[in-house]
Amino acid sequence: MMTSLSFREVWEAKSRIASFVQSTPILYSEPLSERTGARVHLKLEHTHPTGSFKLRGAANKILSLPEEDLKKGVTTFSTGNHGISVAYIAAQLGIPCTVCISNRVPEAKVNRLKKLQAGVEIVGKSQDDAEARCTELERDEGMTVIKPFDDREIIAGQGTIALEIMEQCPDVDEVIIPLSGGGLLSGVAFVMKSIEPSILVTGVTMQKGAVMQESLAKGKPVILEESYTLADSLLGGIGTENRYTFPMTKAFMDKGVLVEETHIEEGLIFTLEHHKMVVEGAAATGIGHLLHCNDLQGKNVVVVMTGNNIDHQAVTDLLAKS
Ligand SMILES: *Cc1c(COP(=O)(O)O)cnc(C)c1O
Repeated sequence: MMTSLSFREVWEAKSRIASFVQSTPILYSEPLSERTGARVHLKLEHTHPTGSFKLRGAANKILSLPEEDLKKGVTTFSTGNHGISVAYIAAQLGIPCTVCISNRVPEAKVNRLKKLQAGVEIVGKSQDDAEARCTELERDEGMTVIKPFDDREIIAGQGTIALEIMEQCPDVDEVIIPLSGGGLLSGVAFVMKSIEPSILVTGVTMQKGAVMQESLAKGKPVILEESYTLADSLLGGIGTENRYTFPMTKAFMDKGVLVEETHIEEGLIFTLEHHKMVVEGAAATGIGHLLHCNDLQGKNVVVVMTGNNIDHQAVTDLLAKS
């Protein structure tokens, strides 16, 4: 196997994060089962207090740091679900946390981070400037940079989702996983394949800016320009020096699917209408794929509903359009 992650690290993650992260429910979806001819189950990872599964990896990484590092605090340059989860865990532990962001980050996101008592440093105009500042904080103040996906504790933390899926739906045949940097897919797929290699792993991404999928096609990490998508949490690169998630995704993903923007919208509206649940575009990508998939008949399928951080306006606009 191309990874050095061990199954033990995932069990360790489960026990380490137990007092900070609750397990999430799995929901049998009658309407999606009817529509696809499969037995469809939704793993409700958007029900964490931070609104996404990223809490698992962030908790596992931070709780694995030695005491003296914890005291010096943590830093990150993610403003999305990862940043929110890092700030949340730091607040729970009462340790310093600085989120470095560029001046292009919207006010609403900045306020959400401040509400979690994170220190917010506005530096420069781009994500790269923010990242450089994190590196400086590490060097000068001994803070630990918490990476969003390419890190074994992060991957092991996300892998705890699969332990729960196996308990809740042991006869699962296929798992559908929204894919960006690949921390989620690497962790979940590693556990699934270790338990039962015949379980299929499908990664879903929006059509434009699917960096991991393009990188797999090219055989090495590529950089792509970002453009608008409802699945904004799936944007971003995989790092040109990627160590874990590129080889792990390559080894474990059976099928990569690019989901049309209109199908992502449809997935979001479907979830709202039939389950009365609001999820963000990234999570709706899996549903959008399902709605247009015709090779699932008779299978037990689990879709990971990854997050719910979407603003009211985006939902209102979509509803007005539909
Ligand atoms: C981060 C994220 C993903 C993708 O996870 P990766 O580990 O980067 O592949 C999917 N959905 C949501 C809501 C996310 O926040």
